[in-house]
Amino acid sequence: MESTAFTSLDQIDDAYTSVVEAKNSYNTRSISYRKAQIKQLGWLLQNHEKQFEAAVLSDLGRPAFETISAELNPMKAEINEAYSHLDKWAKPRKVKTSMVWGLAQATVYPEPKGVALIIGTWNFPIVLTLGPLLGAIAAGNSAILKPAEQAPATAALLASLIPKYLDNQAYKVVLGAVEQTTKLLELKFDHIFYTGSGNIGKIIARAAAEHLTPITLELGGKSPAIVFDDANIDVVGRRIMWGKYTNAGQICIAPDYVLTTREMQPKLLESFRAALAEFNPPPKGSSTSEATPLVQNKSYSKIVSSNHFNRISKLLDTTKGEIVIGGQRDEATQKIEITVVTGVKPDDALMESEIFGPILPILVVDSADDMVKYINAHDNPLAIYVFTQARRNRDYIFERTRSGGFVHNDVLVQFQIPGLPFGGHGPSGMGNYHGKASFDTFSHERASASIPTWMDVLLASRYPPYTPQKLKML
Ligand code: NAD
Repeated sequence: MESTAFTSLDQIDDAYTSVVEAKNSYNTRSISYRKAQIKQLGWLLQNHEKQFEAAVLSDLGRPAFETISAELNPMKAEINEAYSHLDKWAKPRKVKTSMVWGLAQATVYPEPKGVALIIGTWNFPIVLTLGPLLGAIAAGNSAILKPAEQAPATAALLASLIPKYLDNQAYKVVLGAVEQTTKLLELKFDHIFYTGSGNIGKIIARAAAEHLTPITLELGGKSPAIVFDDANIDVVGRRIMWGKYTNAGQICIAPDYVLTTREMQPKLLESFRAALAEFNPPPKGSSTSEATPLVQNKSYSKIVSSNHFNRISKLLDTTKGEIVIGGQRDEATQKIEITVVTGVKPDDALMESEIFGPILPILVVDSADDMVKYINAHDNPLAIYVFTQARRNRDYIFERTRSGGFVHNDVLVQFQIPGLPFGGHGPSGMGNYHGKASFDTFSHERASASIPTWMDVLLASRYPPYTPQKLKML
């Protein structure tokens, strides 16, 4: 596995000079250049799939299946979409206007913002780093990419491949942690795209304010899964458990906790148990009927670091709720079993901040109104999931809450459905991306008008002196 030293502060200055020169050369603006770079990004992924799988395995212990289905395939689909729609996206748009101004050639030009800084995170270290980069390239920007130091193998792989595939002047990788990010944030960029926690998001926003740089913040939060009494219980169990199994729940849009009724809770627990048994059957051909415990299972991701392992363990140690499913953890493999906790009260440690791991507390409420009140008393979640067979229940929650995204009867899919912009709302983020939204994020909609000089005949009344006669004409 590759391992590369952090970028020195002098090298950051050099990288910055290079991307600014690329911007000033105007090379990155042409559509043919952008398409060539997008194609190269496609080859970068295609030619090194196995290396990416191995890097993520090393960083997160994640099975190849999840890396292919949740990172490589969606990233390739995004690349194909950007490549095939770029001409249309980048086309100047004539605006429909009034009769007089119809002569003004009023046009909106999507223009590159300039130089982008992209700060990635570790939980999906490919797609959450290359996804924004794709948007920056498609919109004609140069960029510095700062992959997350917590996924060092993937970061090192990106640092070794990007110079081989992309324009070496316009796209630079900076490896590092707080020191490097702090240095980068002192420099003036034309857009900063950050994925990570809200606490660091505030540092990014403050630094950006110094230069009045526009920002996109892809943050997190506690995303509830609401389960109504009429939900299709078999499907609910499978889908919610899948949301916690994937990447061991280390997903910004993982269902963080369940809101349900007292009547539904026992059925839900049964359905969770059945789903987990389905996901983790006894090994084929083994003499025992016992499944391999998840904490030793190679198809189940580890917790990214001992810090996060200890953080999640502490939540389990301090909760006043009852662990009714799972609860095992193994420091040696750094894995924590999917763990469901009941009897959780709103002031429980598990309800304080985003869990970002495979623990699922269940909060029992009396009514849909209580569900809405609970959600609205907290930060806007990045996602709300609602499980119900009745459209009116879905609408009840949808119309009374705010969140980045909203899914009826499933989890996670909003990240992958082509055409849906992805992003948070307030404390869960600002701005969005994916597909055309990525292009828009890194573009400036430049308004342009061209006023024929002969039009002064029509415009004569606007010039001083402002006579009473002219006033009447307004
Ligand atoms: P983090 O926010 O601690 O770190 C992310 C990046 O910030 C790293 O690259 C790091 O180098 C940099 N950083 C850390 N401290 C810094 C400082 N003091 N100054 C400047 N830069 C600094 O990452 P995390 O908390 O482990 O990430 C998990 C969070 O990210 C969760 O809240 C999750 O929901 C969120 N997330 C959001 C999305 C999304 O798309 N919305 C995706 C993944 C994760």
